[in-house]
Amino acid sequence: MAPRIEAPEFRLTKTDVVKKVEDILAPLKLSEEVQKRIREVYDEEMRIGLARNPSRKSCLQMENTYLPELPNGTEEGEYLALDLGGTNFRVILLQLEKGRVVSDEVQHYFVPEPLRVGPGSELFDFLAACIYDFLETRSKLDHKLPLGFTFSFPMTQQDLNVGILVSWTKSFNCPGVVGEDAVKMLNEAIQRRGDLEVEVVAVLNDTTGTLVQGAFLDRKCAIGLIIGTGSNACYIERVDRVEKWEGTHGDIKEVVVDIEWGAFGDNGVLDFMKTEYDQMLDKNSLLVGSFTFEKLFSGKYLGELTRLVLVKLAEEGLMFGGKIPSQLLRPGSFPTRFVSLVEQDAVLKLARPVSSESCFHELGIEHGSDDLKILQQVCFAVTERAAILLAICLSATLMRVDREECTIAVDGSLYKYHPRLHHLLEHYIIKMTPGKKFSLLLAEDGSGKGAGLIAAIANRLRTRKHS
Ligand code: BGC
Ligand code: MG
Repeated sequence: MAPRIEAPEFRLTKTDVVKKVEDILAPLKLSEEVQKRIREVYDEEMRIGLARNPSRKSCLQMENTYLPELPNGTEEGEYLALDLGGTNFRVILLQLEKGRVVSDEVQHYFVPEPLRVGPGSELFDFLAACIYDFLETRSKLDHKLPLGFTFSFPMTQQDLNVGILVSWTKSFNCPGVVGEDAVKMLNEAIQRRGDLEVEVVAVLNDTTGTLVQGAFLDRKCAIGLIIGTGSNACYIERVDRVEKWEGTHGDIKEVVVDIEWGAFGDNGVLDFMKTEYDQMLDKNSLLVGSFTFEKLFSGKYLGELTRLVLVKLAEEGLMFGGKIPSQLLRPGSFPTRFVSLVEQDAVLKLARPVSSESCFHELGIEHGSDDLKILQQVCFAVTERAAILLAICLSATLMRVDREECTIAVDGSLYKYHPRLHHLLEHYIIKMTPGKKFSLLLAEDGSGKGAGLIAAIANRLRTRKHS
């Protein structure tokens, strides 16, 4: 398949409009020089994040996941998995046979906003209630099930089943949880009910689950990547290169490191490339001043970024016949799925940009054909930047991985539904790491299946310890 990287057709007769639109989009273009600088800054933050006594703190957490081994094909039994962090909360029941997920039953639960920003204990009570509902409907309340908890937020791990929340991200901000162990809070909620037999044996990040699921599909897998509501990656690192853990790991040779790259730039190191749109977006966000990198492109923000640029273009009289559509003034009114839709037109090269039209239609915005072309240009610009930023960090991570050939396991809604992101990532990574053998592999539902597999590994490690 030829990579889809060409720009959408764009011909406006009024050259001054074209010029002005280009000027407005220019800050979103990352020159070679800027790209090089981002790469250098990222490499340096990674290095400091692993150092023993760094002179300053890195914005990259480079967290130990306490996952010392990947599935080895012997995993057996029945496990529960929870997945909290993105758009949905899910409870999953997995059957493992010889390291294979032979069946999985999934139930989605909607987490209403008051629970996402209300007292932490209420959120955990809600999770426990969902577990109860799930097991009750399946007549499994009396099964003693080990549970793997995918908690997709930055954590400090002290063991495979201890995860202290560092900060909330995305659309969660419950008081009383930062600094607390999410496993302990879940266990307490389970005990408060007193009618559940489950035991939380492992807590994991969604990137870790994705890596584990990816390793199951392809043994060369050494990086787990999420491009969804938020974004992050983890990779397999040699323990001897993690200076900060010196002497604490016994005979374990490799460990999965959770980078938490969403927070890249939180210490100001990316300020030089942030645009006025990025600043505005951050100012209106739930957690101001945090998760700088994630806010530049991830699924929760890409549509919003597009909206802000469209508003600017309208204010400058370059779109919508000089009027500013009120629909566009509402934060969040332009969802990221619209960006994917508009990009679909560019990919399909239809005579009529039907998908782009449908976005304006859904918003109830009147538009002309030039507006559609400009909309495509904006989506093209934010997409390009997203792909380049991701490729920079992925390339740097790839170069750290101690493997001749490396598969990157990917999951997340933006990656899955954006029609060009996969190709763009491939294109830019090849450009940035000439000669390096890699592939991008969709590893769906790592946060479910991976959690089950990790729960099984946790079980195995326990038995080993006790024998
Ligand atoms: C969280 C990460 C997570 C990522 C993708 C970020 O906001 O900090 O822990 O892996 O989102 O879900
Ligand atoms: Mg998810």
